[in-house]
Amino acid sequence: MKYLIVLALLAYLYFAWRKQRGNRPGNSARSPGPERRSETGAAPQEMVCCDRCGLHLPRNESLTDGRGGTFCCAQHREPGSA
Ligand SMILES: [Zn+2]
Repeated sequence: MKYLIVLALLAYLYFAWRKQRGNRPGNSARSPGPERRSETGAAPQEMVCCDRCGLHLPRNESLTDGRGGTFCCAQHREPGSA
């Protein structure tokens, strides 16, 4: 019975450790440079949300209606369509 408790404690610590590593990548080795860029060299994409259906997509792929609304496709940009 005691081993079960120890095992559960170890499992908990393991998952907590993994979660902490996932939330803060690269905290052990601080990389120099003012900002972190992806491997492709492009700046990270800002994600926006479609006002009609709630789909998340990169801003450069989204459509705007001139009133600050962002949409995933032309159908969702049309006011009349459902
Ligand atoms: Zn949409």
